[in-house]
Amino acid sequence: MNTLFLDAQTHLETAFSYIDVSEDIQKRLKYPKKTTLVSIPVRMDDGRLEVFEGYRVQFDNTRGPTKGGIRFHPSVDLDEVTSLSFWMTIKCAVAGLPFGGAKGGITVDPKTLSRLELERLSRGYIRALADVIGPNRDIPAPDVNTNSTIMGWMAEEYFEIIREQRPDVITGKPIHLNGSSGRESATGQGALYTLMHWVESQNIKPENTRIAVQGFGNAGFHFARLAKQAGFKIVALSDSRGGIYSEDGLDPERIMHHKKTRHELKAMLYCDASVCEEAKYEQISNADLLEQDVDVLVLAALENQITEKNANAIKAKIVLEIANGPVSADADDILFNNNITVLPDVLVNAGGVIVSYLEWMQNKTGLYWEESEVNERLKLRIVKEAETIFSLARDKAVSLRTSAYIHGVARIAGAIKEKGTREYFQEE
Ligand code: NAD
Repeated sequence: MNTLFLDAQTHLETAFSYIDVSEDIQKRLKYPKKTTLVSIPVRMDDGRLEVFEGYRVQFDNTRGPTKGGIRFHPSVDLDEVTSLSFWMTIKCAVAGLPFGGAKGGITVDPKTLSRLELERLSRGYIRALADVIGPNRDIPAPDVNTNSTIMGWMAEEYFEIIREQRPDVITGKPIHLNGSSGRESATGQGALYTLMHWVESQNIKPENTRIAVQGFGNAGFHFARLAKQAGFKIVALSDSRGGIYSEDGLDPERIMHHKKTRHELKAMLYCDASVCEEAKYEQISNADLLEQDVDVLVLAALENQITEKNANAIKAKIVLEIANGPVSADADDILFNNNITVLPDVLVNAGGVIVSYLEWMQNKTGLYWEESEVNERLKLRIVKEAETIFSLARDKAVSLRTSAYIHGVARIAGAIKEKGTREYFQEE
């Protein structure tokens, strides 16, 4: 196993140094429970056969069925999927959900596929993994470059295979296919609730807070849109092609509209246009965006964006991690020593999985809630866990990340312990 996973495990080691957990439990949390690698043959539009690599890693299911998204990206590999499944395990425990953690992915650049090729690939992934997932076994959801349409195709493929409608097998589905209201914006909404709770505890006013957002996809866009509505000033935004800056503030909704309408969309699912084409604003590079002199830097793209190479150049006072693993372990120490508050991924982006849990519950009961009710339930849960993590960090004088890991690991350790550890089996 190489670096990303080992890097991710550093935080676990730190948490172990603050809580009394049996060696058995420490060993259990170091290895994924089940790793499945599949090849997915897809007939391309021109008649060729392409074969894609697919992954599903189920890291730990002590607290319930495993849960985690599916990523379509050229850089997807076993190390990345394993790391993401580990973070999902911690996150579900931090959020107090009855789930373990998993993650899946396909090594592909989906923007090079036609809509029909994308559908065949998505359905092929489910055919290859249908006996590994399941409503009470492992429940996928969207992640980078996958969305509600893709979840709808995947759910339907699963129903065809098992000859039964089980919408609780996948979350993040379209509203008209038993999805939950509020799921599309849940990750951004949860991140905003967490940030609001932090700034209130520090007596910081939203109107005096300037924010830069890296990553203008599902999570980053909804966060930026809702943060502007809540009175924060969004001064910089970027996507994979570059970024824009305006001291007067940006309007995320207008920019997203522009991004979607200005150019022809390749497969109607992905945008070819980029925020960097919004000409009247100052254009900046991705590296510039990270180093802007702002109050809050929001990381909503991919992992390892702040490393020991650029950590000392970060000027923001608060880093809000919407992406999974955007700050490396070394960089995390540097930011902590530079008095920069990092609000950690395993809490900040938990809104997505919390509303996925609510979708799963709605699918199981057949009772569907209004968006306001979903958001109220999301807020209650994420603010409660944030409060616990903030006060634990104060009491133990540790970073918010260490505090979140202590909180989550204690819940997983409690569940493993109930099944018996060395201390239980070794009689006097
Ligand atoms: P997405 O595919 O909708 O958006 C990703 C965005 O990041 C795109 O705008 C892309 O252009 C941009 N990007 C990629 N590389 C970049 C770079 N180097 N600099 C700037 N921008 C870059 O994906 P998403 O669902 O919004 O997920 C983003 C992150 O949030 C991921 O780390 C994901 O794991 C995490 N996350 C998402 C959810 C969810 O519900 N969608 C939940 C929890 C965590």
